[in-house]
Formats: sequence, structure tokens, C-alpha cells
Amino acid sequence: MAKKKLDGLIAEAKKAQQERLRSYREQALKILPWICGRCAREFGRERLRELTVHHRDGNHDNNPPDGSNWELLCIYCHENEHARYEDSKSGSDPKFQHQAKSGSDPGATHRPLEGLGELLKKKK
Ligand SMILES: [Zn+2]
Ligand SMILES: [Zn+2]
Repeated sequence: MAKKKLDGLIAEAKKAQQERLRSYREQALKILPWICGRCAREFGRERLRELTVHHRDGNHDNNPPDGSNWELLCIYCHENEHARYEDSKSGSDPKFQHQAKSGSDPGATHRPLEGLGELLKKKK
């Protein structure tokens, strides 16, 4: 019985973590202006799906409520941003491990464009 309860708790905690990961976007959209931090394009509600949350330090578990680790980027600039990281990764700078850490949590892997097609399909 106790074991079962513990499993339940772990499942709960995992679920909560997943939800937190998903909701940082909503939080970021709440406190940041809907403008791409690179190309300065403005986004209205109907195009908001093209605006994505970039983590400045590359750590997606680092979600301070003041938004200091978030940057809103349109999907194009976000892709460029990560392409840049990809380029620099061949170097030895440890700062550019942005996409390299595919840790134990698959939900935390950062591929901004992956799943977007699905998302667009669903929202149609
Ligand atoms: Zn942009
Ligand atoms: Zn990013």
C-alpha cells in the first residue's frame, strides 16, 4: 500500500514538473511584451503561436518568475539563435551547450520547432 502511495506521489510530482515546463510560456507571455527580441516584430493574439520562449542561459529548468531568463523570439529568430549555438558548439566554449544536454527528462529537451507542426495542426 505504502509503495503504491509513493508511486502516486512520484507520478504527481512528475506531472507537476511537466505542467510547470509547459506553463512557463504562458507566464512569459503574461509578463513580457509580445515582441520578438531579435527582429522586433510585434505579435497579436492570433499570431502568438509564432512567438516562442527562449531561455537565455539555455537551462529550461531555470524559470525565475520575474522572467529574467526568458526572451520571446519568433520561431524564425529562435531557430537562428539555436543554429548559432549549433555552430559554436563545435568549438570548445562550454557556454554553448544549449541543445547538447538531453537530460533524463525528454520534456526538457529544447527543439523549438519540433512539435510545432503538430501544434499548428491541432489549433486549426
Ligand atoms: Zn524574430
Ligand atoms: Zn531557445
